Amino acid sequence: MTFHASILTLFPDMFPGSLGLSLAGKALKEGRWSYSAVDIRSFATDKHRTVDDHLAGGGAGMVLKPDVLARAIDATRHKGPRLLMSPRGKPLTQERVRELAQGEGCMIICGRFEGIDQRVIDQRQLEEVSIGDYVLSGGEPAALVLLDAVVRLLPGVMGHDQSHAEESFEDGLLEHPHYTKPNMWEDHAIPDILHSGDHKAIATWKLDKRRELTKNRRPDLWEKYVKTKG
Ligand code: SAH
Repeated sequence: MTFHASILTLFPDMFPGSLGLSLAGKALKEGRWSYSAVDIRSFATDKHRTVDDHLAGGGAGMVLKPDVLARAIDATRHKGPRLLMSPRGKPLTQERVRELAQGEGCMIICGRFEGIDQRVIDQRQLEEVSIGDYVLSGGEPAALVLLDAVVRLLPGVMGHDQSHAEESFEDGLLEHPHYTKPNMWEDHAIPDILHSGDHKAIATWKLDKRRELTKNRRPDLWEKYVKTKG
């Protein structure tokens, strides 16, 4: 089973973009995941290949036309859920990323302009996904972010599957600090405990650091963690 992303966009050349390099790029070449970038504009039927129109009710801005986008959706074979990148969506979490990585794939629709016609969202049951509380000019960078997070979890993509276990968000805590040689750098030494060879003490140190960081930086995550793990 290979994870397949069917991406609907007005800018197919934006893919694979950053996902053609490094870990994701290697995995793409090895066939561990695949994608197709479908040009929404190729489903426009008029001579100017129009994909957008003015806002109903007035106001500045344009909206992706429902008929054109629905044709693109209906013509595209895909596996898994249909996601619409949108600042109004449910904020993306590591939990949702993990679920997606366990599936066979997804469709990702990239909005442009003011967004897309609400009727397509309702009629084609699109799951709106946000990558954060800020506004991008288009859904493509958001799709790249989502896919980056998913692809690195696919089997065989990262060398050490164990390295996911203590990562930020995996168990509700942020990650502890990391260090590497040289031991002394600008008069600052690596914490002694990490040289102790005492694996149990090191594990305790890591957990303490993770708890401390989460408590200080992300009271929202900390509150949830305390409720579930104590
Ligand atoms: N008028 C809209 C913003 C449109 S931005 C609003 O105020 O909600 C244009 C497109 O960029 C969107 O359709 C969406 O696909 C994408 N986009 C912008 N910000 C995003 C975010 N935070 N997360 C995911 N997609 C986003």
